[in-house]
Amino acid sequence: MTVGDEKFYRARVTKRVEFAPDLWMIRIQPGGEFKFVPGQYATLGVEHDGKRTERPYSIASAPFENEIEFFFELVPEGALTPRLYKLQPGDELLMRRIPKGKFTLDTESGRKHHLLVSTVTGVAPFVSFVRTLSRDWKEGRFDGSHQLYLLNGASRPWEFGYKEELNRFDAELPWFKYVPTVSRPWDHADWPGEIGRADDVLRKYADHWELDATNTTAYLCGHPDMIANSKAILKRRGFVDRTAIKEEIYWIPAK
Ligand SMILES: Cc1cc2nc3c(=O)[nH]c(=O)nc-3n(C[C@H](O)[C@H](O)[C@H](O)COP(=O)(O)OP(=O)(O)OC[C@H]3O[C@@H](n4cnc5c(N)ncnc54)[C@H](O)[C@@H]3O)c2cc1C
Repeated sequence: MTVGDEKFYRARVTKRVEFAPDLWMIRIQPGGEFKFVPGQYATLGVEHDGKRTERPYSIASAPFENEIEFFFELVPEGALTPRLYKLQPGDELLMRRIPKGKFTLDTESGRKHHLLVSTVTGVAPFVSFVRTLSRDWKEGRFDGSHQLYLLNGASRPWEFGYKEELNRFDAELPWFKYVPTVSRPWDHADWPGEIGRADDVLRKYADHWELDATNTTAYLCGHPDMIANSKAILKRRGFVDRTAIKEEIYWIPAK
């Protein structure tokens, strides 16, 4: 590998789990100290044909874990994901030593409700939030005074890579609610859950949970259309303060 070690770790894949043909997670050993705040992202890369291709990826694991976890979607014609897709336990990849991002839990504004809205892999930073707070709650560092409400949209039921874990947290934690919602239910008559895109059901759940601009910060993560639609819906519900909506747009739609 020709990359200078001062900016990058040569991280090693320790685990790979495939959720669906185009969705998978990996865990890595960074190979050095990597301090991050839940909600931040890492920059991952691969060297090929004499060049380096890098992209940002939200971190799904919590800072207390000894490995870093990511949830990927394969973009078949993409520059990086087909290369990441091939990585197996034992393989190396590049990771910038410094995490980035401000998509972190708002504990400053005084708003104690947190509405987390995501599409498919956009759930990753929220998994990090919940894993972290769950540990803090069990060990007495978090008193449960912040409430998290997670809407996770996908086309198909098998796209929810973290559904079992999040359902367990929902059952166990009084301050966490999880609603996975499927937008193509007609192929899945046995799907027992919510139906529609995340932004379709957003208003209904905001009303149901009594979340408004006075008590809630909203976090939108993943598909650019979901984020644009959700922002419009939240604005109509009074979320006009710019700090009340945080967003992490995963890609810019091709024109
Ligand atoms: C802060 C941040 C965090 C991110 N976190 C994650 C994450 O946790 N997991 C994850 O899988 N991705 C995440 N992404 C997206 C990721 O950085 C890459 O853009 C994505 O993996 C595609 O990379 P690629 O090189 O394979 O495709 P590219 O060569 O970059 O893209 C090819 C084309 O596909 C479009 N495109 C990119 N991604 C998608 C997609 N998912 N669906 C449809 N079209 C797409 C692009 O706009 C482009 O037109 C994140 C992006 C940002 C900005």
